[in-house]
Amino acid sequence: MPAVGGNTLISATGITASDTQLHKDAGTPFTVEDHFKKTMETGKNIPDEKLVRLLVESSNSAYEWLLTLGLKYKLDPKDPSWILPVEGHFGAELVKAYQAEAAKYPNIDLRVETKATELVVENGKVVGAKVTGKDGKEQIINAKSVILATGGLNNAPEMIGEFNPKFVGVNTEMTTPGATGDGIRMAQAIGAQLKDMEYFQMRPLSLNGYWFKEVIVNEEGKGGILVNKEAKRFVNETLGSWDLASEILKQQDRMAYVIIDSDVFATKDGAKMIDKAKGVKADTIEDLATQLGLDPAVLKATVDEYNAKNDAFGRKTMGKVATAPFYGAITKPSSHYTMGGVAINENAQVLDKDGKAIDGLYAAGEIVGGLYGAGRVAGNNTLDDIVFGKIAAKHAIGK
Ligand SMILES: Cc1cc2nc3c(=O)[nH]c(=O)nc-3n(C[C@H](O)[C@H](O)[C@H](O)COP(=O)(O)OP(=O)(O)OC[C@H]3O[C@@H](n4cnc5c(N)ncnc54)[C@H](O)[C@@H]3O)c2cc1C
Repeated sequence: MPAVGGNTLISATGITASDTQLHKDAGTPFTVEDHFKKTMETGKNIPDEKLVRLLVESSNSAYEWLLTLGLKYKLDPKDPSWILPVEGHFGAELVKAYQAEAAKYPNIDLRVETKATELVVENGKVVGAKVTGKDGKEQIINAKSVILATGGLNNAPEMIGEFNPKFVGVNTEMTTPGATGDGIRMAQAIGAQLKDMEYFQMRPLSLNGYWFKEVIVNEEGKGGILVNKEAKRFVNETLGSWDLASEILKQQDRMAYVIIDSDVFATKDGAKMIDKAKGVKADTIEDLATQLGLDPAVLKATVDEYNAKNDAFGRKTMGKVATAPFYGAITKPSSHYTMGGVAINENAQVLDKDGKAIDGLYAAGEIVGGLYGAGRVAGNNTLDDIVFGKIAAKHAIGK
């Protein structure tokens, strides 16, 4: 890519950290044990306990290191596990701070538009990487060790489908282009073990590059519905995010339309969605259909059926799409986070299929698998980038 940053650039950069000064000052505890429990439960107890323990026990020092870079944070008053950057500072600011820190070390040779294609192995040890520079020429960079920090695979739909056929054809709206899974492939090619590759965090309501909470279509007794290009409902909108995303992906052009009335629009999430997703507004369902390019008579019949509580999909919490004006927008389910990746040990060394460390190879960040199992706690990723990045670097230089 022409710039550093990857998905960190577009991240909200909230961080989950426990037992910080912020918690003490606010008198709202979030202990290391709370952090451990939350991470394990969210991952359905699949995560590697040793790695999670290391993550949560290092969280305060990672958070404090961010403060030394000049960044400022506040505690979410509603959720003590969620530490937020103060207003205005998001991914771009975090990357800027990392770059400023890196610039203090003149021996760091930072290259953009340089693609790593292969790991170089000699006598069982990783001793460098083959890269293609912006002039298209191949080159080998020799190194005492290599730390893979190439992120996840949100921008590799074929690879996502290969590891989980439920998500074949998933959209790539929620990612920067560099999230191609290259590092995973390079490690796989030299025999690395992969973990939890079937798990992805999916955003069924991913519109115009933003994601929205499923509450817009699944709130108890409310009326948000999803229709396909035939203007027909096709799913119980209250399914979990995985199944909902998967059902939308089975529809024509792998997309659906979110249809809501002004009661849902009046909620914080509803209005925000229509604004960000550049949705349309109409006084009648027929006019809404015309604006969305759907058949007006079919959409009217679909909404009437729903309002009469005729449902073939097992939705138990139906409301009505009845109060004008009505709103609609296109959703294209996208992957938000790759839970799977290369297996590592407590030194952030990449493991082979027998669980043995591959000499000279480390990994940190979203490329790592085994930390989150079936689900991630939002905020643990800003954290794991730092924790395992530092562990890898220290071990690589023998500290
Ligand atoms: C919209 C959004 C919001 C998020 N919000 C949060 C949040 O609030 N809190 C949180 O904890 N997490 C959040 N996350 C998740 C978190 O941002 C990511 O997990 C994290 O940024 C990944 O960092 P990384 O360094 O591993 O990868 P990236 O930041 O994606 O960096 C990987 C880099 O490697 C480069 N690369 C890839 N392949 C090659 C190759 N072959 N050769 C050379 N370079 C290569 C890429 O171009 C990229 O620059 C969010 C994610 C998204 C998409």
